[in-house]
Amino acid sequence: MGTEKVNFDIAIIGGGVTGCSIARELSKYTIKACVIEKNTDIGEGTSKANSGIVHGGFDAEPGSLKAKLNIEGAGSMAALSKELDFPYKNNGSMVISITEDGLAVLEDLKARGEKNGVAGLEIISGNKARVLEPNLSKAVKWALHIPSSGIVCPFNLTVALGENAAENGVEFFLNTEVLGIDKPTQTVGKDESCHKNNAGFYEIRTDKANIRAKMIINAAGVYGDFIHNMVASNKEHLIARRGEYCLYDKKHGDFTERTIFQLPSKLGKGVLVTPTVHGNMMIGPNAFDIDGKEGNNTSKAGLDEIMDKARHSVEALPPRSGIITSFAGLRAHSERDDFIIENALGCDNFIDVIGIESPGLSCAPAIGPFVVEFVKKSMRLEEKPKGTWNGNRKGFTHMEEMTFEERAEIIAEDGRYGNIICRCESVSEGEIIEAINRPLGATTLDGIKRRVRGGSGRCQGGFCMPKVMEILARELNVDVSDIHKSGNESQVIFGNIRDIDGVEQSREVENENH
Ligand SMILES: Cc1cc2nc3c(=O)[nH]c(=O)nc-3n(C[C@H](O)[C@H](O)[C@H](O)COP(=O)(O)OP(=O)(O)OC[C@H]3O[C@@H](n4cnc5c(N)ncnc54)[C@H](O)[C@@H]3O)c2cc1C
Repeated sequence: MGTEKVNFDIAIIGGGVTGCSIARELSKYTIKACVIEKNTDIGEGTSKANSGIVHGGFDAEPGSLKAKLNIEGAGSMAALSKELDFPYKNNGSMVISITEDGLAVLEDLKARGEKNGVAGLEIISGNKARVLEPNLSKAVKWALHIPSSGIVCPFNLTVALGENAAENGVEFFLNTEVLGIDKPTQTVGKDESCHKNNAGFYEIRTDKANIRAKMIINAAGVYGDFIHNMVASNKEHLIARRGEYCLYDKKHGDFTERTIFQLPSKLGKGVLVTPTVHGNMMIGPNAFDIDGKEGNNTSKAGLDEIMDKARHSVEALPPRSGIITSFAGLRAHSERDDFIIENALGCDNFIDVIGIESPGLSCAPAIGPFVVEFVKKSMRLEEKPKGTWNGNRKGFTHMEEMTFEERAEIIAEDGRYGNIICRCESVSEGEIIEAINRPLGATTLDGIKRRVRGGSGRCQGGFCMPKVMEILARELNVDVSDIHKSGNESQVIFGNIRDIDGVEQSREVENENH
């Protein structure tokens, strides 16, 4: 983006799963819309660090937005995964109780789920539950079985929504942080520089050029209160609630078939044990309110806690040596205890979509359409002419999932698909190049990892990282020292390695293995 001002009908702040779902839905209309995202890539906030569960919808308070959007979102996830070609599996789940008293809680959850419209809920005995899940703890007395819930790849869901929005004309300003917002009629500047903003436009001040928009949609995740408080006449406060995880090697991927929850607490749905859509096993999260918004580090105490708690569900939990990485995400918890989707107080054409904690991922397919109906209350939206909006997208090529014949065919067309770069996940050069050259393509190591899994296996990029960096640098036509793990502050190579006056400078590679 240059220094010239850019005018939009609608600017969405935040390129997480919420912002990308809204962007895709808005791309059906003849408006000029954009997404402003401070990170290098979309989906680098909470949308990258969660359980990836498509919740059945039994947990949310009946009548709440969480309940409504969960049922609608989970109900359309399978169809969306076909349209946008991202991994989703209907694996079912169980909420277990290891005490007899817990039966009453399970009955309450079942009744709540039925009120919300969740189909097929059943309370079963511990013995019956162990027939379905042989690794379940012997201590389990009762379980609520939820056959409708599923698992999804949170990265690919977000990337698919974002890519499809971009393909349909939504502009994305990445690496662009919103620093302040001037309301349409606000007087800015002092003395002789004093002027009124363009009538009807918000002036969004960023660390790059300013962006003007008639309407703002605030989908800034855990920072949603910051953005709201820039303009609204009341103040919001979102609590960042950290949840830590351990991810196990694929050899433990079939340890359970379903997602196993424990009884929920005031802080959340408790520690779960689940397979992932990519065939790993995952345990977590705990729940811990932090000061500030940036503490998505893990701690030994936190990881010990989730391992201890996971053993209540599955006592023969695989050993620590099976863990390949740990990570943490931040829930954007509102004291109102529900999603906030409304006009910000005192601001016309400023819609908050904040407090989107769990089950925000499950709700994503429904949040976009819901917000667009909200937009229509104050802005006329005209549908694009038939045939000019394409809601389908081809997912990334995954050689590992192909038959021998399919692989042979694709390699015959392009030999780079035969050059395996990431040995743990069998990811080829061709797949990495594809991830770079798509709309909103990967520019970082994490961008590759989330799109096509290069570096996400047992060795966590220990082997392939230098090769992936070389491919990124070559395809993006930059120096390899400009290739970062994720954002601009996560350099891998320190020091300038460009050839200056014919002298190659010293280089130091950070031993970053996470
Ligand atoms: C531990 C944990 C487990 C969870 N498990 C599940 C689950 O199993 N199932 C489920 O349905 N949901 C789950 N969730 C919830 C789900 O992950 C979230 O609801 C969802 O990811 C929220 O997406 P978002 O787009 O609103 O926020 P984010 O993904 O955080 O996106 C917000 C974006 O706004 C950007 N931004 C912020 N400030 C600015 C600024 N000033 N300028 C520009 N950009 C800005 C950020 O960089 C970020 O990319 C879980 C959440 C957590 C933390």
